[in-house]
Amino acid sequence: MPQGHIRADDPTRRRAGQAITQGVGMDATMLLRNDHQAVDRLISQLAETSAEDVQYRRLIFRLIKNELEAHSRVEEEVFYPAVMRLRSAQARESVRAALEEHQALDGLLAEMDQLEPDDPQFAARLTALRQSVDRHVLAEEGALFSEARIHLTDERLEALGRQMEMRKRDNAVVPSSDPLEPVGSRASSGPGASEPARRAVRDR
Ligand SMILES: [Zn+2]
Repeated sequence: MPQGHIRADDPTRRRAGQAITQGVGMDATMLLRNDHQAVDRLISQLAETSAEDVQYRRLIFRLIKNELEAHSRVEEEVFYPAVMRLRSAQARESVRAALEEHQALDGLLAEMDQLEPDDPQFAARLTALRQSVDRHVLAEEGALFSEARIHLTDERLEALGRQMEMRKRDNAVVPSSDPLEPVGSRASSGPGASEPARRAVRDR
């Protein structure tokens, strides 16, 4: 596993170090569950908007997309590789299923990105997105987390949690442009952004 480049004086590392001594670090499952809840709240928020709230829809959609992409990325870069190394066929199978669900999610996000928020298809895709997220959450918080808890110590789960937290900060891209700009106008993100990590997990 490549360990992203972290300088010794990196402030996130110091913060993580303090968290160890104070025992306030979140373990991997808590961190991922928090992400799930955040995405779920945003999806509910978006579902409550009306089609005329174009700008607001665009903004909330952008937040969902960023949140989900960051989430999938730390799962694929940190959590899933750790689970793939467990001596458990069930755990590996759960990761494979999760990776497929990530691909479905990426596809839906990319489709929504191309639609105007007042397009009736946008709401239809949102329903599909919610179902896909729900499936991901159910599968992960069920089978996958229980396998992880059976096979990994609390210390290891906490270490993975810290690693994911640091990785999320490293990956966080400060939006350089207005989040209210038309969502389809940015080509840099989209499905496949985390494909190398996914391949790395799958090819183990
Ligand atoms: Zn997840």
